[in-house]
Amino acid sequence: MTTTLITGANKGIGYETARQLLAAGHEVWIGSRDAQKGREAAEQLGARLVVLDVTDDESVAAAVKTIEAAGGLDVLVNNAGIEARGPGNDVIGPAEVTAEQMRTVFETNVFGTVRVTHAFLPLLERSAAPVIVNVSSGLASLSRVSEPGTLTYGYPGVAYPASKTAVNMVTVQFAKAFPRMRINAVEPGFTKTDLNGNTGTQTVEQGAAIIVRMARSAADGPTGGFFSADGEIGW
Ligand code: NAP
Repeated sequence: MTTTLITGANKGIGYETARQLLAAGHEVWIGSRDAQKGREAAEQLGARLVVLDVTDDESVAAAVKTIEAAGGLDVLVNNAGIEARGPGNDVIGPAEVTAEQMRTVFETNVFGTVRVTHAFLPLLERSAAPVIVNVSSGLASLSRVSEPGTLTYGYPGVAYPASKTAVNMVTVQFAKAFPRMRINAVEPGFTKTDLNGNTGTQTVEQGAAIIVRMARSAADGPTGGFFSADGEIGW
């Protein structure tokens, strides 16, 4: 049985990823920073719950203990993420963004991913087929953001895309260091969730598809790459 942890899985794309991986036969731990929301989601899904705030060392350490005691971990999906929004849910552009806003977004999206990955490495190293999926974004792609005429080019935010570019670099460096693990970054696509005030054009089923595919990577599958449902994406 493959055991999988998905951070930030009490709602949105993470919740749907849990649903699809359970259907595929994984034993799934959903991570939720809020115990009550997590209990409700886990009950609806038939998943196991671990309370986990990716910005909190103690919370992550406790989650490692819980999952280790229950038998270990094969697949880690670093899904928890936030976007910086201003009043009226506006994306914060270069004229307004502050170092403090950048720090907040990086704390969850980048340092959270590293904190959780670092803490679960010993468990993943004991797995016969370890996999890490880092949920990035098409907005991480420097080539896409620089291509006039695309939706990505028109996105004005700074903190969120910069954080996801950092996630991509973290992905590549970890993939090189741990060749026995499949470690990839994925772009779910613009998906209707609370993250974007439910303005996304895809369903969560569509958004979760590439995460699920990479979470089910074979031992000889790709590693150190950046993928959407349509295939590999340029950095
Ligand atoms: P969402 O519905 O807002 O879900 C985000 C999840 O992350 C929630 O469960 C949230 O928990 C959790 N979270 C936030 N901070 C956390 C923390 N410190 N510790 C633990 N969990 C935390 O957004 P989503 O669209 O499903 O986003 C999932 C991932 O997809 C994110 O990494 C996002 O950047 C990425 N993504 C989304 C889109 C899109 O169009 N939606 C596109 C590309 C990439 P709470 O409920 O407690 O807030």
